[in-house]
Amino acid sequence: MKINIIGGGPAGLYFAILTKRTDPSHDITVYERNGPDDTFGWGVVFSGKTLANLRDADETSHTEITRHFKAWDNVDVVHRDQKISIHGNSFSGIARIRLLKILQRRCQELGIELLFRTEVPDVGELRANCDLLLGTDGVNSTVRQQYSAHFRPDLSVRSNRYIWYGTNQLFHGLTLTFRENEAGVFAAHSYKFDKTTSTFIVECDSQTWNSALLDSMSEADTRAYLENVFAKDLNGQPLLSNNSKWINFLLVKNAQWTFENVVLLGDALHTAHFSIGSGTKLAMEDAIALHECLGNTSGVGNAMSEFESSRKPVIEAYQAAAHESMVWFENARHYMHLSPLELAYVLMTRSGRVDEEKLRQRDPEFIAAYEEEVSRQGAKTQRPTV
Ligand SMILES: Cc1cc2nc3c(=O)[nH]c(=O)nc-3n(C[C@H](O)[C@H](O)[C@H](O)COP(=O)(O)OP(=O)(O)OC[C@H]3O[C@@H](n4cnc5c(N)ncnc54)[C@H](O)[C@@H]3O)c2cc1C
Repeated sequence: MKINIIGGGPAGLYFAILTKRTDPSHDITVYERNGPDDTFGWGVVFSGKTLANLRDADETSHTEITRHFKAWDNVDVVHRDQKISIHGNSFSGIARIRLLKILQRRCQELGIELLFRTEVPDVGELRANCDLLLGTDGVNSTVRQQYSAHFRPDLSVRSNRYIWYGTNQLFHGLTLTFRENEAGVFAAHSYKFDKTTSTFIVECDSQTWNSALLDSMSEADTRAYLENVFAKDLNGQPLLSNNSKWINFLLVKNAQWTFENVVLLGDALHTAHFSIGSGTKLAMEDAIALHECLGNTSGVGNAMSEFESSRKPVIEAYQAAAHESMVWFENARHYMHLSPLELAYVLMTRSGRVDEEKLRQRDPEFIAAYEEEVSRQGAKTQRPTV
């Protein structure tokens, strides 16, 4: 089979690996606009369950990926200078560039053609010359735009702004830090992903962003401002920029996932708010799902239909959980009156995927401390109506 893949991110590279490994006679080309060492952002996280899926799909790349992992089991919530740790949440972090390099190397070992610095402005020609074309070209997908009449995308620009920095201050666990100043509320999502570096994503609502006059601030002034907001957390370490810019989160859904011999995967197909850390996981699990459908179903068309019908409910469930989490952070200012323990409880249960019983199993001490505080106050934490 001739397969053209537009976009050499986790979705495209991983699909190429799984498919070529299964049948080396496939002729697979990946078109990537960036160079092999370019990347945006810093680290990404995976849950323990995702790692098991990656091991089952391709043990060679799984071994490489896990060799570079930084693992932790705690979520830390910092509010009013107090840190609450909740244990029993198994996650691992890896630098995005390291993940891409591992996948690129595996592609090269298997004989997949990787064309870097190759922008695809017009998908039509590539589509005509192959049996299957994958649109794995990320959140602003050209493939999705070119066939938008068929995919019928639903794109929603969310109101919060976020900016993705790194720092050499090490956060040993997924750390959610809330800091208030005269402009409003800033939240940081941070975790270490190698021996020396952590991801540090700052998020705030538009009211805070406007009051802080961030729209008119230079890149250097923005970093200095945020270093000051999070001074107690950064411990004197600067924020590190990687072409970091303020972005409004783009929520992507598509009514149709396939069109003739074209299929979308990963962020081109769907996004899930970064606060549940699932973008890369979903992109790679999309690749696993499509690869399995191609193996179990006769004919590319049938496999694509099977992929859409079996994978859609899974993605919809993730997007529903991610939606709750995204809306929570959009309304973070309404939770700032809560005590650190209450805030930690509300945060842990925000997406609806974890309830009090699950939390009790994961960290009985945390739940005992929370319940003691609740019984002292005489009522359970009231979620504000937002
Ligand atoms: C702030 C932030 C934090 C995040 N944190 C996490 C996290 O902790 N954990 C996690 O799992 N995920 C995280 N994500 C999400 C994650 O980065 C994406 O979900 C993931 O990279 C999706 O993979 P993909 O392969 O679909 O797309 P991408 O990784 O975006 O890859 C698409 C590729 O296509 C290329 N491309 C685009 N257009 C063209 C074209 N016309 N021609 C040729 N090439 C093209 C691009 O250069 C790019 O390399 C985060 C995202 C953001 C924005």
